[in-house]
This record gives sequence, C-alpha cells and structure tokens, in this order.
Amino acid sequence: METTTSGLEPGLYIVAGPIGNLGDLSPRAADVLRRADVIAVEDTRVSARLLRHAGSDRPMIPYHDHSAEGVRQRLIESMASESVALLSDAGTPLISDPGYKLVRDARAAGRNITTLPGPSAAIAALTLSGLPTDRFLFMGFLPAKQKARADALAEVAALRATLIFYESGPRLSESLAAMAEALGDRDAAVSREISKAFEETRTGTLTGLSALYADAPPKGEIVVIAGPPGEAPPPSAEDADAALIEAMERLPVSKAAGKVAKKLGLDRRALYARAMELKG
Ligand code: SAM
Repeated sequence: METTTSGLEPGLYIVAGPIGNLGDLSPRAADVLRRADVIAVEDTRVSARLLRHAGSDRPMIPYHDHSAEGVRQRLIESMASESVALLSDAGTPLISDPGYKLVRDARAAGRNITTLPGPSAAIAALTLSGLPTDRFLFMGFLPAKQKARADALAEVAALRATLIFYESGPRLSESLAAMAEALGDRDAAVSREISKAFEETRTGTLTGLSALYADAPPKGEIVVIAGPPGEAPPPSAEDADAALIEAMERLPVSKAAGKVAKKLGLDRRALYARAMELKG
C-alpha cells in the first residue's frame, strides 16, 4: 500500500477536535495531526493552539468552502500523493463548519477519505437535554432576519422530531420566543459552554427559557434543543375558533387559516372554511 513519508496513506483525513476541553482530542486524531503532510484549517491562530497541544508542527493552510476554487482543487490534487487533514476551530468539520465541498470534490476525484470521529456540540447537547433522541433534526444556525427565521421554523413545525439549533447569547431569548411562536410551546433545553469550566444546561419550556434569558443574555457558546410536538389532545373547536379570530385581527383570512393550521396541527382547508363562516 502506498504511503506518504509520514507513514499515512495519501488522502483526506477529517479530524474532529474538541469543543472546549483539549483533553477531548482523541489519541488517534492527535496522531494524524502530528503526521499529516498538511492540515487545512479555518483559522490558523485557533488551530495553532490545538496543534501545540497535540505536539504537531505540520504546516497549516487556511480553507473555507468559499475559498477560491483553485485552493480546493490544489488540495484535491495533493491528496493523490499526500495526506491532508481537515480541522475545524471546534468540534467536527462540516457540521456548521467548512468541508462539505472539499469532501464532495475529493469523492468525485476518487481520493481516499477517512474520518477521525469525535465531539460535536449538537450531539453533546442532545444527550444532555433529557429530550427524546430517537428522531432528531440538526437545524444549525437559524437565519438572523425575522421573516427568514419564521419561515425556517414553520417548515419543521409539524415534524415529530427533536430539533437542534446552534445559537449565540445575545440572540437566545428572541430565538426561543420565535421558536415558541412558530412551533408551539414545547419542552426545551439550553446547553452552554459544554466541556468547559462554566458548562450549564437549563431545561424548561421554550417560553419559560425565553423569559429566563430575556434580561440576562448568557455568555459563551450555546445549543438549543426543542423537543418534538407534544402528544396533547387535539384542540377543541372553541380553541380553534378563538385562535382564528385572534389571527384574523392581524392577517388576511387565508394567512390566518394557514398560521392557525400550523400552530394547532389542524387541516388548513377546514380552517379556511371555518374562518370564512366566522367572518361572514
Ligand atoms: N463544528 C462544530 C461542532 O461540531 O459542534 C460547530 C461549529 S459552529 C461554527 C459553532 C457553534 O457550535 C457555536 O456557536 C455553538 O452554537 C456551538 N458550540 C460549539 N462549541 C460549543 C460548546 N462547547 N458548548 C455549547 N455549544 C457549542
């Protein structure tokens, strides 16, 4: 089998790093970081610290998926005869981090690709939440703009799955409130600073947690977990009427019916017909 001077087979090595605690770098990942011919990183200053910890003096090159096409092509060419490690600032590459296009194009070029699996904040927070883990959807960062955020949430409101979001402290309370509005109030958990000195997980409902963080935006890195829609009994006709009347005060009939349908998990057409009756 062909190997490079470092003893590693040529190809791409996707290396998961720690999400806070350097001790979480696996011995096998550290070994690859010491031996790879080159290490593609997001930020050379951030990765320099991890490389020092791993005892690696291997050269780094900055890589982002929006890097010039030429940078990616050169990396893919070098993978034919050299070992290229891909490392993120934190956690698993490709997960809300660069690397997808590099892996896609390396596959298309028939390069060897392997992974050194390890921490990811999404999975760590899911396991801390106490919420169902049998079906989950990783949502990454929600869009910053209100309308785009509401649309992204509306798309998944009816899914019977636990939802995982990356978030920042200053936006946390507002995002939790937007989730409650679009998904209906649900059990939720907020984990921050996982594996670091001030690790903390708070649980409650989306609205309760939104209120908790409204006056004191938390510091540090944050993951929000929202449980699946509850198994509550279907809303009564009176509840549906009340929601329709309230929505029609702000919205045209068809939009009001759509919004209530999503919120209460009811049939949109039936609600539209009922809304017309109520209006009439
Ligand atoms: N690739 C990383 C992974 O596998 O988790 C995620 C990178 S993404 C750019 C960074 C986001 O991940 C942060 O804004 C935060 O939402 C989340 N995150 C990273 N480290 C974390 C930690 N120690 N505790 C809580 N959330 C964390």
